[in-house]
Amino acid sequence: MSRPPTATSRTPTVSLTTNIAAIHGVGDRRADAFRRLGIRCVADLLLHLPMRYEHELEEAIGMDIGETISPDHGTAANIAVRGEVQRVQAKMRRRPRVEAELYYGTGTMLITWFNQPWMRSKIHPGMHIRAWGKVKRHGDYLQLVNPQWEAIKPDVEVAPRTERHRPVYSSNDDLSSTIIENAINAVLDDVLAKLEDHLHEGYRRQAALPTLAEAYRMAHRPANADEIASGRRRLAFDELLMLQLGVMLKRRHRHDTLTAPALTHNAAIDTHIKARFPFELTDAQQNVINDMVADLTRATPMNRLVQGDVGSGKTVIALYAMLLAVASNHQAALMAPTELLAEQHFASIKQMLSGSRVNIALLTGSLKPAQRRAIHEQLEAGEIDLLIGTHALLTEKVAFKQLGVAVVDEQHRFGVHQRATLRAKSSDAHSSPHVLVMTATPIPRTMSLTVFGDLDISTIRALPPGRQPIVTRLVGQRKADEVYRWVAERIDKGEQAYIVVPVIEESVSGLKDVQSHLDWLEKGALSRKRLAALHGRVKREQREAIMQQFRAGEIDALVATTVIEVGVDVPNASIMVIEHADRFGLAQLHQLRGRIGRGTRKSVCVLIADPVTDDGTARVEAIASTTDGFAIAEKDLEIRGPGELFGSRQSGLAPFRVAQIPRDIELLQMARRDAQAWIDENPMLAGQRDALLKRRLLKAHGKTLGLGDVA
Ligand code: ADP
Ligand code: MG
Repeated sequence: MSRPPTATSRTPTVSLTTNIAAIHGVGDRRADAFRRLGIRCVADLLLHLPMRYEHELEEAIGMDIGETISPDHGTAANIAVRGEVQRVQAKMRRRPRVEAELYYGTGTMLITWFNQPWMRSKIHPGMHIRAWGKVKRHGDYLQLVNPQWEAIKPDVEVAPRTERHRPVYSSNDDLSSTIIENAINAVLDDVLAKLEDHLHEGYRRQAALPTLAEAYRMAHRPANADEIASGRRRLAFDELLMLQLGVMLKRRHRHDTLTAPALTHNAAIDTHIKARFPFELTDAQQNVINDMVADLTRATPMNRLVQGDVGSGKTVIALYAMLLAVASNHQAALMAPTELLAEQHFASIKQMLSGSRVNIALLTGSLKPAQRRAIHEQLEAGEIDLLIGTHALLTEKVAFKQLGVAVVDEQHRFGVHQRATLRAKSSDAHSSPHVLVMTATPIPRTMSLTVFGDLDISTIRALPPGRQPIVTRLVGQRKADEVYRWVAERIDKGEQAYIVVPVIEESVSGLKDVQSHLDWLEKGALSRKRLAALHGRVKREQREAIMQQFRAGEIDALVATTVIEVGVDVPNASIMVIEHADRFGLAQLHQLRGRIGRGTRKSVCVLIADPVTDDGTARVEAIASTTDGFAIAEKDLEIRGPGELFGSRQSGLAPFRVAQIPRDIELLQMARRDAQAWIDENPMLAGQRDALLKRRLLKAHGKTLGLGDVA
């Protein structure tokens, strides 16, 4: 229903792989510009979907635009208009203004260009132009302000149409949206005629989805607003369905072909393990353990995510699973994202297991080669029962004799690949350890249905008893002196503090760095207090010594970077000051603050910030207003958008082009339901009917989801 490409502008034999330079009207020079936008071939062009549509009323000849742009449109609507310039007036005052009257067939519109004095010499009465931009209604007349425009030939014939939704493509300096539009129009019909659909007709009918070719046509050349929505729905649905199918295929495959050791669990073992814990488990913790035990005692690999806010007590849950493996003569491994966290886990678990026969070891990148080799050998011989470490755990050299349980702590710091690598640490190809992943950054419900769709999820909703709520205060930089005087008073009362700054070394950024800040504090408000610096470049021995002293109360305050973000657990520390708080991410602030409020003292977190961006302000205000990790995760999703959070970036999965979470939550639920039915009906997507679907699925997600052996 839109401007049909003329016969001569067609590119005769196009396919999806046709080079962009071969398209009529593109040529070599423009092809470079297309490549800079990531468009190399016709398929890329097809996938370059419009960012938005301009609602054009230019062809509304014989219709009163004034009526069309009624007050219902709000104060401004996007239109394009073509017509003849009648009068031009320029007012060159402090705020220069060029005004033109444009006659568009049935009425006159005022066009105003502010601060563009040169327009005076470009626009003349009698010229025919096409102008597009925001139109405003002022009582009787319409005004276009600072529109874009182009000169046109007066004799261009305009098809009698009442409206058009003109696609607007993301473009760059040497490639306008119009050029892209023309290139697409030159190939669209031909290529769509050849495009096969991977969804079979029966399904499409029942789900009320257009064919793939129709959907692309609707996206690039919609006849009306309904078509835009309908095309978008199909394309968004495809992405969600593909991911769901991939995830379910993977899950199915794991269930059908991989085995895991069925661990023994009984009352005696349960009592034995719990006797090692220095406290009673909460109901919330016990419930998660029950979920887990049901999985661990089966011969199918567990794949469970435990999410619980910072400080909710996830470590003992992991320890329970690991000790259950050891009780069944298997090994267990715990992987942490930082050395500091791995060392903390090692120290506290070692203490809980002191005097037992469980042999525990720490493997990180800072080990000397000889030490590392020794650990590798003992692991392979089955002499080490419980291994704690960092990424170092994933290297090829690390081989277990019988890995029963693998735990990934703070999963949000890793990607999905690590999980797959750990799983492969099993002794043979058809077996897998039980995998437990833990995160303190709760996954918003909407996201948990997508990338983490292959995990079973357990949630710890309550904190251990006796916790005092954390009070959070937000102050400006000018109050810093006052803040540190108050910190000194609290230290005098026997409390300990974390002071967090954004950078390790002095830099051009002007942000506070660890050493200068520590010097400044030592000379000023915190003189005579015992301070220590902690950051990523402090050597292992020194770092361990510092943490040990801090835990023992021999250091009053740590001046640190975000290395303390995860895993530091010192209940007596009840004060936190975060400098340049607006520079940190929301999840990060929440994690940092989670270092305090672990004991029975009333904890206070002071955020020092003078935010300069809206996002920065939104973050510090959000963190100051709640301590609920779930609420913060939702807020984070709102501020940053899902792609940043759990979607693509951290998981390594390709981002969605069209689908948006949470906007498309209903489509997502439909995709989930239908993918399940699909897989139930045709578990391996075998046979002719689903062959194309399977091929496209493997192309999209085969690598990232590790679907290799499914194919
Ligand atoms: P997470 O890893 O979920 O952030 P941790 O496992 O580090 O939390 O636990 C936080 C603190 O709470 C630790 O000091 C831990 O010893 C303590 N803790 C955990 N569970 C309990 C419980 N049931 N009762 C009392 N204290 C607990
Ligand atoms: Mg933890």
